[in-house]
Amino acid sequence: MREFIVVMKFGGTSVEDAKAMERTAAIVAGRRNRGLGAVVVVSAMAKVTDQLLSAAVAAGRGDRAGALAVSSRLRNRHIDTAADLLDAERLLKLRVTLDLEFDALDDLLRGIAAVGELTPRTNDLVVSFGERLSSRMVAEAFAQRGLNGAHVDARTCIITDTHYGKAVPQEAAIEQKLLALVLPLIEAGQTPVMGGFIGSTAEGITTTLGRGGSDYTAALVGGGLHAGAIEIWTDVNGIMTTDPRICPDALRVKAISFEEAAELAYFGAKVLHPATILPAVQKSIPVWVLNSRNAENEGTKITAVAPKCASPFKSIAAKKRLTIIDIVASRMLMSHGYLKAVFDVFDKFECAIDMVSTSEVSISLTVDSNQRLPEICAELAKIADVKMEGHKALICLVGEDIRGHNGIAGRVFTAVSHVNVRMISQGASEINMSFMIEEEDVEEAIRSLHAVFFADPDATVFDVAARDVAAAVQVASKV
Ligand code: ASP
Ligand code: MG
Repeated sequence: MREFIVVMKFGGTSVEDAKAMERTAAIVAGRRNRGLGAVVVVSAMAKVTDQLLSAAVAAGRGDRAGALAVSSRLRNRHIDTAADLLDAERLLKLRVTLDLEFDALDDLLRGIAAVGELTPRTNDLVVSFGERLSSRMVAEAFAQRGLNGAHVDARTCIITDTHYGKAVPQEAAIEQKLLALVLPLIEAGQTPVMGGFIGSTAEGITTTLGRGGSDYTAALVGGGLHAGAIEIWTDVNGIMTTDPRICPDALRVKAISFEEAAELAYFGAKVLHPATILPAVQKSIPVWVLNSRNAENEGTKITAVAPKCASPFKSIAAKKRLTIIDIVASRMLMSHGYLKAVFDVFDKFECAIDMVSTSEVSISLTVDSNQRLPEICAELAKIADVKMEGHKALICLVGEDIRGHNGIAGRVFTAVSHVNVRMISQGASEINMSFMIEEEDVEEAIRSLHAVFFADPDATVFDVAARDVAAAVQVASKV
């Protein structure tokens, strides 16, 4: 373990403009001042990946002018940002690099438009420009600010297979490259800066790790270097006990296990996708979620093993826009192959199922509302009676300490006794209790549950101090 190395990942909003990049530089300076060796992984500037995708799609349907117009706007945005960030000499140097990159992008878009076909491989090449450009700019900004920024083309280190659009990293090869190319820079007191999300095959063909892939890059880099910590810098204070827009007295969760974070991610706790930090968790490297707009905040620490917590739950999440499908087939349900036949229908339409409950004669399933549901139901109607009901929501309570508490289900359902509960599930993981209600009852249910389970929160796990400060401010403003 190289305790002195910290991998710091900054998302699109943390590099969206010159001001954000300044903040990012200050945060990295803070870590270096503590004697740490920082490796920085950056996303593309906010929204750039989406715009590159739209340029690729436009080129793919032969709309050359449309594609080049997108690229031209991006060129201006990057150059304007660089001009705000850098002194004249550095700007001149970086401008050459940026222009070369954009010229290459334009050539590529013209080529795609000429052929009128966009393959997954060329699509990856087009979107790779976002991180290639942002990392160049950030490295130069760091160099100017005394951080010894050193650009590393992520494609030289992040070796993947050829699944374009969602390439699978080859961890052994990556580790080898990182030790050869990145570690010496850190040891020489430099700050390596690389783009997240992008990689290349062993033959040098550009690939990407899938949307949101920069967190994955950070975990791979941290894992490969055996870093002491990984920091995911975003624009929220960390994982909260529930959505603060619904419950203003929601608390920051100071520490949470990887499994708990994984359960929450599905419910749109948009902080990060836990599967992407697996390479770090497997090596017991802690991952911190931190706020680049509020750098003093301690954030949330995600570790392989959860710290002991006196409260049964860490967080309450909700997912709306769900549909329940009731499938009733009195004669066939328990017959061999029946469940398979039902699930095959969902599979055929590539529709993921969230929750399942069965009785002797019926199956109830929940799925994300999607346009293909009528087709799915029509197909299911051939083998059963089918009923579909939309506007449902799933409430999910997550915590490893559910196990140690008796009578939890009783307390949960007493708290929501005034709302109509449709389906209940306690997953095999034993750290998640979920139930289905009407969409319109979500806010009410969350507030009631939060009031019951976070009335007396464990101060070692939840940021109680912040709530006390907020309450004091409120009292003071009323006096
Ligand atoms: N820029 C990529 C995306 O928008 C990767 C990332 O930001 O993590 O999906
Ligand atoms: Mg992201």
